[in-house]
Amino acid sequence: LGKEEQDVLEAIERENVDFVRLQFTDITGTVKNVSIPAHQVEKAFDEGIWFDGSSIEGFARIQESDMRLEPDPSTFEVLPWRSNGETASARLICDVVNTDGTPFSGGPRQVLKRVLDRADQMGYSVSIGPEPEFFLFEKDEDGKATTIPHDSGGYFDLAPKDMASDVRREVIFTLEQMGFEIEASHHEVADGQHEINFKYDDALSAADNIATFRAVVRAVAEQNDIHATFMPKPISAINGSGMHCHMSLFDEDGNAFADADDEFNLSETAYNFMGGILNHAEAFTAITNPTVNSYKRLVPGYEAPVYVAWSGVNRSALIRVPDAAGASSRFEIRSPDPSCNPYLALAAVISAGLEGIENGADPGEPVREDIYEFDDEKLDDYGITMLPGSLSEAVDALQSDEVITEALGDHVVDKFTTVKTAEYNDYKTYVSGWEKERYLEKF
Ligand code: GLN
Ligand code: MG
Ligand code: MG
Ligand code: MG
Repeated sequence: LGKEEQDVLEAIERENVDFVRLQFTDITGTVKNVSIPAHQVEKAFDEGIWFDGSSIEGFARIQESDMRLEPDPSTFEVLPWRSNGETASARLICDVVNTDGTPFSGGPRQVLKRVLDRADQMGYSVSIGPEPEFFLFEKDEDGKATTIPHDSGGYFDLAPKDMASDVRREVIFTLEQMGFEIEASHHEVADGQHEINFKYDDALSAADNIATFRAVVRAVAEQNDIHATFMPKPISAINGSGMHCHMSLFDEDGNAFADADDEFNLSETAYNFMGGILNHAEAFTAITNPTVNSYKRLVPGYEAPVYVAWSGVNRSALIRVPDAAGASSRFEIRSPDPSCNPYLALAAVISAGLEGIENGADPGEPVREDIYEFDDEKLDDYGITMLPGSLSEAVDALQSDEVITEALGDHVVDKFTTVKTAEYNDYKTYVSGWEKERYLEKF
């Protein structure tokens, strides 16, 4: 065993860890766990842990279902909410490998690693600062989630209106115990809605962190007997939950996005990366916004993007450039929502950006007005297109984009398309409450 693995074994002793969860995500981004007794961890490092891939969404066919989990020792963390001072549970994030020891091409973490290797060959490391939003809702007497907000605070409100701030504080303490650096947290626009920003990190850690973050928020909410949701648009006609991602590239000289002479403090490299993102935005939307519900957030009027454009300040654009310079020069992509698989979402967006650098993509001029107010003619004049309007349009757009499908690999694209087409068809044929309200008595 290497030094990192030894450190984990020591930490297990020191912290009295009795069980370790081996964690990975399926294609849809659901976190899966296999729990092993702590004394098995050494073996897990040595030879991995076998599991049946055919029972995981989008992994293996039944006839070739043996797969192995290889824990990444750098991801070891004690789970504070599963620790009582005497014994503790911990987790390790895993890569998925085939029986012959080769990386499984359909494992989301593997897909992201492949894209980051490409960035590395181009001389870049990718930094991501995610801003996930979520709602805290009351439960009913039967313990079922409702959509009744847990508080009635508004943007940046403080206690006593912001009653959920205690829960948010507990989430932050828990994350900090797990090694997170929290930059900021605040009450969002809608009642019951919150945002927690963590410090930018390399893209792989950022994706691991997003997966962990969702688990922590859910666990802490659960302990407080409230329901946390990352559903993108749980309530119509008010803001939904996004997960903006701040992005920059670093090379040996520092932030490759920085250029002090530019109006937005962005370099040619940054503009090319942005151009690539704009060129492939329609295609990667299926991955960054993977549910039927995601498309109810991407509508005008709720600070979510609808148009493929970039802007300095305007929150109606897909990409916004915050007022920052030097090491902090960056831009924010505003379309991803927290229901996405963070590994696949970052893989898709980053591969779009890298292609932009390779081919010198031009993002065009920034839009300085509120695009929500544009009519069709003006959109045409500015050459602004729209993000897909539904999961079905998004899946079609994904399939017709070679850059994104190649980055994700055939396995992921095929399985993802199958799962999401079925999801959309199920939705399409379902007769909803809205229809009954609207038509039952009218006709
Ligand atoms: N909730 C908004 C969204 O859907 C973002 C609001 C904000 O952070 N300013 O993306
Ligand atoms: Mg924010
Ligand atoms: Mg926000
Ligand atoms: Mg933001």
